[in-house]
Amino acid sequence: MLLADRVALITGGAGPNGLGFATARALASQGARVVITDLEAARPAEAAARLGPQHAGLVANVTVKAEVEAAVARVLEQFGRIDILVNNAGITQPRKTVDISDSDYDAVLDVSLRGTLLCSQAVIPAMQKRRSGSIICISSVSAQRGGGILGGPHYSAAKAGVLGLARAMARELGPDGIRVNCIAPGLILSDINKDKMTDERRAEIAQTIPLARIGVPADVAGACLFLASDLSGYCTGITLDVNGGMLIH
Ligand code: NAD
Repeated sequence: MLLADRVALITGGAGPNGLGFATARALASQGARVVITDLEAARPAEAAARLGPQHAGLVANVTVKAEVEAAVARVLEQFGRIDILVNNAGITQPRKTVDISDSDYDAVLDVSLRGTLLCSQAVIPAMQKRRSGSIICISSVSAQRGGGILGGPHYSAAKAGVLGLARAMARELGPDGIRVNCIAPGLILSDINKDKMTDERRAEIAQTIPLARIGVPADVAGACLFLASDLSGYCTGITLDVNGGMLIH
């Protein structure tokens, strides 16, 4: 077992078809006790129960500091430690630059970027005490190539912000034994995009990808498992591309 005795917190992990839940399942299969946090409507407790009784689900909006802090306090009370944080919660919106409203900007930047900062801030002191931890931040190919397929420029900016934040945290927290890394998924079939594309468009996109298929959540979960475990013990500040070769750089 790669993660025996470890405790992992995964934000935005309740959607059964999402990257977060696939990651929760992968980490649990390697012995981790997993805490899924998500918005109330996504029913995180039910999601955690599907993994087994040793796991937990908590309601926490990643954009609200008090909710994030309360969730982390609950995890520490119940499990005594947090070894792994996966900053996975994110939303996207298709927009042209001139159409991005103030509220669009706030919504998208707040979940991906402020959420990553708030959740990291909340777990860092406990990780510092143990002098060990792995923080994984889900960015996007959209940050690297200037737009993915569906998200607007504000989504690219939020995910590029995540890359910068993660790299700076990696530099700062390395001496405390805390590793911080990013994953940049390409197009992965999940609820975030499933109703936003026709089957024909999907097939067209798949043809442009060297591995000739659109990704599945398990593709990202495998990369998360690597970054969460000691297999990646000398990796910090990296961005792991999980994009089928959509962007090779
Ligand atoms: P998803 O919509 O299934 O998952 C996102 C989750 O975040 C949902 O469970 C949602 O309830 C939760 N969430 C939204 N706002 C929240 C908030 N304020 N607080 C807490 N939770 C909140 O989509 P997904 O594809 O699984 O996306 C997971 C992550 O991967 C996101 O950060 C997304 O931007 C990123 N990503 C996805 C793709 C893709 O193609 N699917 C590609 C690159 C990056």
